[in-house]
Amino acid sequence: MNIMQFNYFAKASTLIAALLVFNNCSRNPVTGKKELSFMSESQELALGQESDPSIQAEFGVYPDSLLQQYLTIRGKEMAKISHRPNLDFQFKVMDSEVVNAFAVPGGYVYFTRGILAHFNNEAQMMGVLGHEIGHVTARHGAQQQTKQILLQGGLIVGMIASPKFAQYAEQASQGLQLLMLKYSRDHESQSDKLGVEYSSRTGYDAKEMAGFFQTIGRIQEAAGANIPTFLSTHPDPGDRYKNVTAMAIAEQQANPNKSYDVNRDGYLRRIDGIVYGEDPRQGYVDNNNFYHPELKFEFPIPSAWKTHNSPTQFQMASSDQKAMMILTLAPEKTLSEAANAIVQKHKLKVVDQRNTTINGLQAIVQIGDQVPENAQNAQQATQNTVRVMTTFIAYNGMNYIIHGVAGIADFPQYERTFLNTMNGFRALTDYSKINVTPYRVRIKTVYNDATLQEALRSFNTPDSKLKELAILNGMELTDRVTRGMLIKTIEK
Ligand SMILES: [Zn+2]
Repeated sequence: MNIMQFNYFAKASTLIAALLVFNNCSRNPVTGKKELSFMSESQELALGQESDPSIQAEFGVYPDSLLQQYLTIRGKEMAKISHRPNLDFQFKVMDSEVVNAFAVPGGYVYFTRGILAHFNNEAQMMGVLGHEIGHVTARHGAQQQTKQILLQGGLIVGMIASPKFAQYAEQASQGLQLLMLKYSRDHESQSDKLGVEYSSRTGYDAKEMAGFFQTIGRIQEAAGANIPTFLSTHPDPGDRYKNVTAMAIAEQQANPNKSYDVNRDGYLRRIDGIVYGEDPRQGYVDNNNFYHPELKFEFPIPSAWKTHNSPTQFQMASSDQKAMMILTLAPEKTLSEAANAIVQKHKLKVVDQRNTTINGLQAIVQIGDQVPENAQNAQQATQNTVRVMTTFIAYNGMNYIIHGVAGIADFPQYERTFLNTMNGFRALTDYSKINVTPYRVRIKTVYNDATLQEALRSFNTPDSKLKELAILNGMELTDRVTRGMLIKTIEK
């Protein structure tokens, strides 16, 4: 987590709801056909403008102005030859290790640092840019938004142990899932086609875009169940490889006089130094403790609990999924304002509330019950009551909130566990825990003809990272590399 605003999300959902009121028919810029759409171009723009701050709050903007500029320049070049050349596209690099790219109506296009680290040439990046610009020009978001709104009520945050706890975790995520539109297979295929068209027209070899689907396939395989959004919502990478290759060849045969760049070395030089994998400076777990080097606090995590860190909160869930804890920041100025706000927000019946100090920090401990409103009888109401222990802690000019949530019957079993974590919140002063650095991609020149594995080892790559680096380089470990060739390594 990092210091961010929390109140954007509600605004975005309100806007989306408001958009439903309007209803108009417009011509699709790509197909030229008239279609029923709930959004005019100005409404699309408004949606992009409203969602952009929440997306920035959820992921954080990657702090590298040269890379931001690079993506913007290439993106704007492509937007100019697209079906909506007059739309004011925005391109942003997000600070996430997840390999992902997505677009929001109105021309907002986002690439993670994770996907930029995994491209192996400019043509791959341009292909994916074309795909995302394609979602915008073909107005997939505007069409999809309407279906998505109907699902809004049923959305549950993925990481949360149980649906009845979902409300305590990140309303943010609910807003975001709405924005991370799940496009249909037809929309994906149309965007792949537009990706080929747009990247070819800007002079890049679209066969490379197909090649990137092989990288996606390998990441998907290595990740197992943990499939990021971009991967899970998109069609099978194997099929896309075949289809995009065929379309790229057809496009090049139809325009034989044009030249198609790959630009491997130029691209690799651009991403030299990009942060790779998780960034521990934004919080990390080590030996059953959570450390936050930037905000300078730490607290213990119950052993065997699952954890998930995002810019807005840190979540912990027991392995039996009967209890969870969440650390987040309160927008209110004082501890008692924050405590009142939580009671109102979650409609809690306060059982106990007292002022205290935790490791020298001013704090409030509150216990409240949330009784279901739709219970049929008293017995059902008791069974489904959720008990929430919340500790509010003032530290370094900010008010921290730690929730411990369990069903009322399970609560006594977890009370000590909750207290142990909450009472363990303290200032982080250990410099060995504060001075942590992320891995970065380093571009190296191969000394001698060798296999990729030999070359990586010559740059001191640990054996445990070899497989991962083969994927990062878009090669097999047994592939030959030659003297003078550039490859990606990682260094702290
Ligand atoms: Zn897509």
